Amino acid sequence: MKHFGIIGKPLVQSFSANYFNQKFRAEHIDAEYSLYPLANIEAFTALIADARKRFADDGGLFAGMNVTIPYKTAIIPYLTTLDETAATIGAVNVIQFMPDGRTCGYNTDAPGFIDAIRPHLKKTDRHALILGTGGAAKACRYGLNKLGISTIMASRTPQEGQVSYDHLRLGDYQVIVNCTPLGMFPETAFCPPIPYEQLTAEQFLFDCIYNPEETLFLRHGREKGCRTQNGIEMLLGQARAAERIWSGVEIKGKKNKE
Ligand code: NAP
Repeated sequence: MKHFGIIGKPLVQSFSANYFNQKFRAEHIDAEYSLYPLANIEAFTALIADARKRFADDGGLFAGMNVTIPYKTAIIPYLTTLDETAATIGAVNVIQFMPDGRTCGYNTDAPGFIDAIRPHLKKTDRHALILGTGGAAKACRYGLNKLGISTIMASRTPQEGQVSYDHLRLGDYQVIVNCTPLGMFPETAFCPPIPYEQLTAEQFLFDCIYNPEETLFLRHGREKGCRTQNGIEMLLGQARAAERIWSGVEIKGKKNKE
């Protein structure tokens, strides 16, 4: 049997666990996907060594893992190889365990985002405002840049090259991407603090959040006639990309450490 799982904290429920276990059942694949709550990242190496040995003793194989909040960046020093996308973004959400013991880190949030946003883009979409500066923001910045769209990030504490939420001119951007958790269930009455009255029907609003289906951010956009899209396709896209990695598609890796 092949084993997969996810590390994170807290880890009470997981889209990935439901997605993969349903898929394994539906397609009669001899595999299971489990939750591995991790109190701190230092415990990762021992957890993996123990699980790999246990599964091998039963004739099984620990094949791969997802990584979620708060470990997408902290995991990097624990991996032997990083693919180029993960290295550029500085965040890993998929790990592949190689038969020789090496661990390879990938970022599938970025390809998931690219596949989700591409069908909605117009040729005139040239400049994007990204709200937030965390892992999703970095993956979306990478994706937008790959699609030829320039980006700037908005932050509550802007660093060099970022903008503050004060005095935003939304007309400068054709695409606005919410990469903050504002508006996510159960805090659905919140939305990023941007001047929504400046929105026009020419703009496109993308929200990485997928629960609720329409966040307050997207509702404000829809009411101004904007194109809108939530994060569900991005979520499905990152899972499908993980699946391709785990099914052995060759990925060019970059050495991370000896
Ligand atoms: P993260 O690393 O914690 O980053 C969130 C960013 O949002 C922070 O860097 C922060 O930027 C900003 N932020 C946080 N709280 C805020 C507040 N109260 N007001 C304004 N800004 C705030 O989280 P993440 O992993 O990037 O995830 C962000 C969202 O994207 C979450 O809702 C997550 O579920 C979603 N997501 C969806 C997918 C998908 O597949 N659809 C994939 C990844 C993430 P500053 O401190 O610079 O302001």
